[in-house]
Amino acid sequence: MEVSGSQTQPGLCADCIHARRIESDRGSLFIRCELALTDNRFKKYPRLPVLSCLGYQRGAEGLA
Ligand code: SF4
Repeated sequence: MEVSGSQTQPGLCADCIHARRIESDRGSLFIRCELALTDNRFKKYPRLPVLSCLGYQRGAEGLA
């Protein structure tokens, strides 16, 4: 049985208030980190999964 490689785990970004989810046409998941706009310690498109992050802030569910 083949396992699809298209499922990306975002790690901490999954429920971080600074994260914006972006999905490509092929189903790949990217996270854009809004904190990177004001703080250059953070990458705009962090490599996923993010397992530890200084800027992580847990947010409410259902981010737009
Ligand atoms: S601050 Fe960290 S955990 Fe939050 S979106 Fe940016 S990279 Fe992800």
